[in-house]
Amino acid sequence: MLRINNLQVAYGGIEAVKGIDLEVPEGKIVTLIGANGAGKSTTLRAIVNLVKSKAGSITYNDDELLGLDTTKIVDKGITLVPEGRHVFPDLTVIENLKIGAYMRKDRLDDDLKRIYGLFPRLEERSWQPAGTLSGGEQQMLAVGRAMMSRPKLLMMDEPSLGLAPLIVQGIFDIIKTLNQEGMTILLIEQNANMALKVADYAYVLETGKITKQGTGHELLADESIKEAYLGKS
Ligand code: ATP
Repeated sequence: MLRINNLQVAYGGIEAVKGIDLEVPEGKIVTLIGANGAGKSTTLRAIVNLVKSKAGSITYNDDELLGLDTTKIVDKGITLVPEGRHVFPDLTVIENLKIGAYMRKDRLDDDLKRIYGLFPRLEERSWQPAGTLSGGEQQMLAVGRAMMSRPKLLMMDEPSLGLAPLIVQGIFDIIKTLNQEGMTILLIEQNANMALKVADYAYVLETGKITKQGTGHELLADESIKEAYLGKS
């Protein structure tokens, strides 16, 4: 579905992504783990052309994405839930959700129902300004908003960041549910333990390069991964 070859991204003279290859097959959960500054967010931002790539190729169902406008990429069914949530704080929950569907106006009510089914908390709070939601609720809203664009490929940048363990578990349960319903997912996480447990396939990114890859189970069992990312658990 998504295939990245030799992707290179630089900020001025600083190379953040140094020629990575990565594949996200349809219907799978793929995760990209790595330390702060490894280039994970940059990779996701490059896929939707929020940062310019220096070289390489990114294809989606064999169409080249490199150089396309972000709106055209979203139109193809790719959505990014950015790190730090970025909900519109002064708008209500329901307004934030509707903005997620700005590309289309059909079947909004069906989608709202579906999202409220996954996140009953959002329905209870649909008239509350998003800025007054708790961190976990804002994360649910960011995921819900992304779903309103009906993505085929949902990319999530650290959905568990700063959330309590119970909420993190809830977010990962939703990720699994969405995947079982047919959504393909590319997930970036510092919570490597949780991410590797749900992932069909995983890549480790270190200072802009892929240093290891394998199934989630393989990497969970890998001694060097345990030491570097799993707190020896
Ligand atoms: P984190 O887990 O901390 O979010 P990350 O793996 O997502 O890290 P990136 O955000 O992709 O890492 O950053 C990769 C490198 O690029 C870092 O060294 C970062 O400082 C640098 N970088 C990111 N955005 C910019 C920018 N807009 N201008 C200059 N340098 C940047």
